[in-house]
Amino acid sequence: MADAPLTSLTDELARHLGADRVLTAPEDVAVYAYDGTPVLRQNPACVVFPKTTQEVAACVRAARQFGAPVVTRGSGTGLSGGSVPMAGCVVLCLTGMDRILEIDPRNLTIEVEAGVITQKIDEAAGLHGLFYPPDPGSRKISTIGGNVAENSGGLRGLKYGVTRDYVLGLEAVLASGEVVWLGNKCVKDVAGYNLRDLFIGSEGTLGIVTRVLLKLVPQPAARKTMLASYTSIEAAGDTVSDIIAAKIIPCTLEFLDQQTIRCVEDFAHVGLPTEAAAVLIMETDGHPQVVAEEAAAMAAIAAARGAIEVRTAANDEEANRLLSARRSAFAALARVRPTTILEDVTVPRSELAGMVGFIAAAAARHDLLIGTFGHMGDGNLHPTFLADERDADEMHRVELALGEIVDRTLAVGGTITGEHGVGLAKKPYLRQQLGDNSYELLKLVKHALDPERLLNPGKIFE
Ligand SMILES: Cc1cc2nc3c(=O)[nH]c(=O)nc-3n(C[C@H](O)[C@H](O)[C@H](O)COP(=O)(O)OP(=O)(O)OC[C@H]3O[C@@H](n4cnc5c(N)ncnc54)[C@H](O)[C@@H]3O)c2cc1C
Repeated sequence: MADAPLTSLTDELARHLGADRVLTAPEDVAVYAYDGTPVLRQNPACVVFPKTTQEVAACVRAARQFGAPVVTRGSGTGLSGGSVPMAGCVVLCLTGMDRILEIDPRNLTIEVEAGVITQKIDEAAGLHGLFYPPDPGSRKISTIGGNVAENSGGLRGLKYGVTRDYVLGLEAVLASGEVVWLGNKCVKDVAGYNLRDLFIGSEGTLGIVTRVLLKLVPQPAARKTMLASYTSIEAAGDTVSDIIAAKIIPCTLEFLDQQTIRCVEDFAHVGLPTEAAAVLIMETDGHPQVVAEEAAAMAAIAAARGAIEVRTAANDEEANRLLSARRSAFAALARVRPTTILEDVTVPRSELAGMVGFIAAAAARHDLLIGTFGHMGDGNLHPTFLADERDADEMHRVELALGEIVDRTLAVGGTITGEHGVGLAKKPYLRQQLGDNSYELLKLVKHALDPERLLNPGKIFE
């Protein structure tokens, strides 16, 4: 794509939004040069802050007119480089589109603009005794638009599913500048192809999501949160496999290895056992009697797998402390070394124990520091490399270890990303996972919706 004549493009954008919502100064746009992914950064030509769907459409048409790529951005917490700009692009930052438009308790739905912060949706639902389950660790800052674009998961994914399971409808601005609405409040709808789902997880490459209609569920009546500690990481992995095999689907089964436990404890002081090789944070919710039975069964399974301690949170405050400790894992690990590379491999749950062992062995083999945590109940692990991007030799070893972890993941039937998306970080591995035919089919879809490669070009595909 040819470099856009910047002055006239920004003039045109300012004509639609007003000059105060168009940033061009290098020191201003530098703040939008990166997301939560290390190493990747690039200043955009400008950053704009539309407040309505019509303004988004006008920005897209202006960018198209001047041949400038468009990168949509929520809060920039993405971990695969999805909202990292490319040279000469317009960054469309949607955080100003933050209105909750409607809560409909009769249909159990909520309609929001794309820039609404994830946690605010659950809080708004809570006022009606309802509940929005998807809870990425970043929920205090991530936007629902970013969640939809990445199909984000969270700590409750095992029982409640991921963002896709709650999206009933969405509005999107296409590369042409046209606006489409896909979906409705109906529980069932098979009219035509399911285009709504095509946009979920499309990482800003097919359209810009401006409005979302979400499903809510009743708040669970009871919950029990437990902490099980182990002397081996494999025993924690086996506990997860055994719980699933026992046909118990808890709401949360989160894993932290020793490196992560120590960093989190140092950061959050919640009383985690720092000598344990691994811990599981387990939560069951629902009818009080079922919760009591499931909690007892999970504690027994953990003990049978050699847990040295299974502690039950005495009250909501302690339960929330444990869960927030898990949510702070990334931030806690990031304090150790200058560069934090968080991976997202996901394997069938029967392969978990082998996979955590493999990651630990890869760290030892390549003399690297890796803290591993993750949504273990989903088979989703986040091996987190603690490195220094200024050390070329160390970064080379990170690449080698990462390649081995990806190969092993795919060999056991896993995926290169369970929730963070492909973006820039995972695109070298996508063809390897999908095979040539599926990969080319994906590119055909992109070409059909965005033939001029205007929306987030260079992401997902090589
Ligand atoms: C501490 C921490 C914990 C995290 N925990 C989790 C977790 O538990 N589970 C999980 O899944 N992820 C997690 N993440 C990753 C990240 O928070 C999610 O991917 C989140 O959905 C990104 O939202 P965002 O608003 O920051 O989007 P951004 O990072 O701004 O954008 C992410 C991608 O979505 C696209 N995009 C953003 N908004 C729109 C829109 N309106 N329309 C179209 N495309 C759009 C962007 O172009 C980009 O490709 C975590 C990140 C951090 C930093």
